Amino acid sequence: EKQARIRNFSIIAHIDHGKSTLADRILEKTGALTKREMQEQFLDRMDLERERGITIKLQSVRLPYKARDGREYILNLIDTPGHVDFTYEVSRSLQACEGALLVVDASQGVEAQTLANVYLALENDLEIIPVINKIDLPSAEPERVKQEIEDVIGLDASNAVLASAKSGIGIEEILEQIIEKVPPPEGDEKAPLRALIFDSLYDSYKGVIIYTRVVEGTIKKGMPIKMMSTGKTFEVTEVGAFTPNAITLDELKPGEVGFVCANIKNVRDTRVGDTITNADNPAIEPLPGYRRINPMVFCGLYPVDSSDYDDLREALEKLELNDASLSYEPETSQALGFGFRCGFLGLLHMEIIQERIEREFGIQLITTAPSVVYKVYKTDQTMLEIENPTLMPPVQEIERVEEPYVKASIMVPDDFVGAVMEICQNKRGQYVTLNYLDTNRVNLVYELPLAEIVYDFFDQLKSNTKGYASYDYELVGYKASNLVKMDILLNGEVVDALSFIVHRERAYQRGRALVEKLRKLIPRQMFEVPIQAAIGNKVIARETISAMRKNVLAKCYGGDVSRKRKLLEKQKEGKKRMKAVGNVEVPQEAFMAVLKID
Ligand code: GDP
Ligand code: MG
Repeated sequence: EKQARIRNFSIIAHIDHGKSTLADRILEKTGALTKREMQEQFLDRMDLERERGITIKLQSVRLPYKARDGREYILNLIDTPGHVDFTYEVSRSLQACEGALLVVDASQGVEAQTLANVYLALENDLEIIPVINKIDLPSAEPERVKQEIEDVIGLDASNAVLASAKSGIGIEEILEQIIEKVPPPEGDEKAPLRALIFDSLYDSYKGVIIYTRVVEGTIKKGMPIKMMSTGKTFEVTEVGAFTPNAITLDELKPGEVGFVCANIKNVRDTRVGDTITNADNPAIEPLPGYRRINPMVFCGLYPVDSSDYDDLREALEKLELNDASLSYEPETSQALGFGFRCGFLGLLHMEIIQERIEREFGIQLITTAPSVVYKVYKTDQTMLEIENPTLMPPVQEIERVEEPYVKASIMVPDDFVGAVMEICQNKRGQYVTLNYLDTNRVNLVYELPLAEIVYDFFDQLKSNTKGYASYDYELVGYKASNLVKMDILLNGEVVDALSFIVHRERAYQRGRALVEKLRKLIPRQMFEVPIQAAIGNKVIARETISAMRKNVLAKCYGGDVSRKRKLLEKQKEGKKRMKAVGNVEVPQEAFMAVLKID
């Protein structure tokens, strides 16, 4: 029977341990792609992913495989992202699988994200197959890593595959273990349809393309379907799968993974995590959906050119469809005009969305510094959740402010423990525990304000540990802190988009550093521009940008045309990311400067 020969699996790993490379080898081995067709890291389809070398969007691909037992199997590989910001997408893709390959770098061993991903896989009851990758490296220590998998994760690693995704070692063994250990999908094909939407994509010809895994029943062309959360109905126009190229199929049955098109024009009608059922014979209960996770970091996105506002809204709508963890709401800033307040899972997520908007939709953006969500308890007994510092009520109305805290696990060689503790202390961290993973690696646990993590915590961590530290964090709740709003005034006017929230003890130092930085970033104007940092009415720091004395071009002698042109071009370049705030031209970097002042 066909269903007994389906295997659905994901690959999970800490970043850079070789997940994408292994996926490529598996595609090659199963003949899905010939060597010649093979573009490196095929599953990392977005340009951005390839450039940054990280996997953002999960992708699925159906692979026929003839096993050693002589039978033909269908393997569905679902790729997952490897960065801490994208845990949500990992858990989505795992829900569509029965098994997972756990890839661990033979020279690095178990890292923070290895553990985090294993927990997600265990939560989803997946069969985990350990793979020790990069055994070709001279520094590989497969036996030590095996032991570490047993000690730290508690998984039996005695049959772990020793592999090199780079040189193609162990690939067949991996496929055989998938056949042998990952259970085939269950699910009755006669039952009413229940199919999980685990991703979707907008195509201007076909409308929304839904990536789905059928759990029960059958979905086929011409069938009326209903989205269980919204009740919206459609007629299926096409079903198929990616091999990795899209192929059309007659139907998708239980355990099968593929795509469905149904002339869906409104991106909001397909919600990731929703269940598709048969409109004529609906299922009673939807599948357990995804737990919706809340964005942790917010920032304002404003078009440089205000006539791009509608295009920006459309871009966000399309990106949201593809990325359920992105949120946005219209917002107005006195300084920047009309834009959106957007919520992200973390800083990398934020950067990637910004880059996608600029590249894929051609909209130039001004972004404001990211902020976390504060809970403000007011003296009138009400509570406000504030994700934009501008909205902080006046001090006299505030009883207390609470900020989100995370528990961060940092894995690092023990030589760096001192350095890591110092950084954590500087970031207002509270020490929780330290334990040894093996003779010279430790897991250090701290509780830290999320807001401090946003301020280049991980860059500092990496650079102070020669890149050896790996980390993971989860939200643990809110705690009261002595926080104040800092305003920045340009030419005597508060620039709302530059306000930020800071711990009172650090306020003076940050305010001082920021005005100094802004003085360097904001170009001279025709007049003198004072920059001030203030808490309430109290100015705590001041700098002045002196007026431009003469036209820069006056410096070039009449004859030197090419130099003049260069200068003009350079000015134009610089202009692109300028926003006129009152009568002062402010460059993009100024709005992000607060992040880089420690
Ligand atoms: P991912 O972040 O887990 O998807 O990791 P990638 O597949 O992008 O690999 C990260 C880096 O490790 C790349 O430079 C790969 O070429 C390299 N790499 C992956 N597998 C191997 C391997 O088996 N041996 C060696 N030496 N390098 C590998
Ligand atoms: Mg990758």
